[in-house]
Amino acid sequence: MSGLLVPAIVLTVKDVGEADRLVTFLTAARGRLTGLARHARRSRKRFAHCLEPLSRVNFVIATRRRGDLEFLQEGELIQAFASLRRDLPRLAAAAVLAEAAGELASPPEAAAPIFAALETALEQLEQGTPADSLLPACLVHLVQWGGYGLKLDICGACGGDPKPPFWFSAPGGGVLCGACAGGLPGPRLPLNAGSLELLRQAHQLPQEKLSRLRFPPLQGGQCLTALRLFLRHHLGRELRSWSFWDRVGRSPGSK
Ligand SMILES: [Zn+2]
Repeated sequence: MSGLLVPAIVLTVKDVGEADRLVTFLTAARGRLTGLARHARRSRKRFAHCLEPLSRVNFVIATRRRGDLEFLQEGELIQAFASLRRDLPRLAAAAVLAEAAGELASPPEAAAPIFAALETALEQLEQGTPADSLLPACLVHLVQWGGYGLKLDICGACGGDPKPPFWFSAPGGGVLCGACAGGLPGPRLPLNAGSLELLRQAHQLPQEKLSRLRFPPLQGGQCLTALRLFLRHHLGRELRSWSFWDRVGRSPGSK
């Protein structure tokens, strides 16, 4: 074996050509990578149960690469997260978090904490943490690690202590005073005091403790809409996995 052993979380898998698979995966050292698993559909032994999105695996990748394309030599399954796969809301939350993590892990300093945050989140969902609470809480961490300062303690317009009624603005970087909201370009949305408090708690808690937080439906819906707006503003596009979440994950009462 001449390759490098790389701990990874599989993000997407696509069949290419006659027998190959193209895999995107998140790593702690280099963020999101793309690798070719040659003959993976014919010789399943080298990648036994490894090429499933969301699985935590160890890949052996060749030391040579072609441009941005890695060559996967073999893989070993570390954790399949079988329980979360049987629950659609938790599966959808995991899909959104994995896609967001892949998008946000490009600055070199972001890769390791984002990999750790996603791995912990998948474990928390696997252990049964409710999807509609862990999803907003973990997204707060991912956008912070990704380098997008989410302003929750100061108003994004006046820089002071935010005064109610609170608003959330993606171009404004986070929370705004009611009096300041009108002066900034949209989109923006109202944020009630409970929602703001939950976002602040999620921000302050270490990832391992996020499983304790519970977002009631109204607050969870507001926080998710705010974070979705924030991600779309910064990434320039909507994450594809939101459509899956919209079908299966949304709690009644959250719009
Ligand atoms: Zn203000």
